[in-house]
Amino acid sequence: MKIEKNKVVSFHYVLKNNEGEVIDSSENHEPLVYIQGSGGIIAGLEEAMEGKKIGDKFDVVIPPDKAYGLYDDELLQTIPLSSFEDPADVEEGIQFQVDTGDGIRIATVTEVHDDEVIIDFNHPLSGETLYFDIDVQEIREATEEELEHGHVHTHECCH
Ligand code: ZN
Repeated sequence: MKIEKNKVVSFHYVLKNNEGEVIDSSENHEPLVYIQGSGGIIAGLEEAMEGKKIGDKFDVVIPPDKAYGLYDDELLQTIPLSSFEDPADVEEGIQFQVDTGDGIRIATVTEVHDDEVIIDFNHPLSGETLYFDIDVQEIREATEEELEHGHVHTHECCH
């Protein structure tokens, strides 16, 4: 069986940035599981997965536009420090969830001033070229229910 649309794929990965630093890895965790063609993983990785088989190991380099997007200055916002519940805890680098009205987004505090804070809605990996080492573990057909829901059902899952 090879990876194609509507196959459930599990894989191990190591993700490095342009400097060769490991920024994420499934090592010591369960493999990542997704449905090919569902948009469950970044576009560039889904493309690289197409046609691969169980046991395949490969490297892939993914440019920002097929990963987490280009960095967008328009996604910076200035908000009053007083809009935080605990202004004393606000510092550069902290991340928090914001309900934007069309979904939960992660914002990162990039600058703290006397009474204003600059927050950034760009994904922390936007603008980055990503370097993956991939190790394909399993491939199976998705069930009808999984396709309907657009996500994989595991034994831990929720329904
Ligand atoms: Zn479901």
